Amino acid sequence: MYDDKEVGRVGRAILEVVKKLYYHRMIDTLSGNVSAKLSDGSILITPGGASKKEDILSGNKIDLAVGDLSLITTDGEVIWGDSEPSSEWRMHAATYKAIPEARSLVHPHPICTLSLFDSFVDNSLEGEKRLESGLLGLNKALSNMEEPEYYVGKVGAVCRLKNGSEELAESVAAEFGKGCTVVVLEAHGVAAIGPTLYKALGRAEALEIAAEKFMRSLGTRNALRSRNALQDRSFIE
Ligand SMILES: [Zn+2]
Repeated sequence: MYDDKEVGRVGRAILEVVKKLYYHRMIDTLSGNVSAKLSDGSILITPGGASKKEDILSGNKIDLAVGDLSLITTDGEVIWGDSEPSSEWRMHAATYKAIPEARSLVHPHPICTLSLFDSFVDNSLEGEKRLESGLLGLNKALSNMEEPEYYVGKVGAVCRLKNGSEELAESVAAEFGKGCTVVVLEAHGVAAIGPTLYKALGRAEALEIAAEKFMRSLGTRNALRSRNALQDRSFIE
């Protein structure tokens, strides 16, 4: 049986995390989802785009109130709240089932993490090998940061699968089962887990910041190379 006070306290923290994801440009107004596992094992999760209420604010993730969240069982049964849970609830539930120590999951769509992964993907490869090629870029970015194992942990990836599907949920949970703390969902987003909401958020953020720094330094290096090439030419001419 859930505890009202815990729903309120954890719910307010979930709303804070959603806001931070938005203001850090890791989600847009309508996307992404966040959940936390309560002490009775139920899952408090952000609502999906199509709320049962169908009022003018439906789908807006940024100005949610605790009453807009859903409390569900690991089988997706709604225990509390009148909103539809996020369509990705299966991914959250499968992860909590697979990783008992996970207490929170954040699922943003971070620009730099996805772009860096994408630009390293070798399309001539398939399956695991293909995913490994994408992860190469992220692992390079992480190798440039202090204590990546503490701030991010192990990063895994899953291939492109239908949003909200059982298959996606099981693939993501299986990656977490291999010891990953962040999983890249190819051409979609990331899922990060933690023992607290802020640890899960911090992992997704730290990976995004590392990816952005890496891409910016690559861009700067290329710009400098072009400038030097131009200078050399003018010298010759
Ligand atoms: Zn998503």
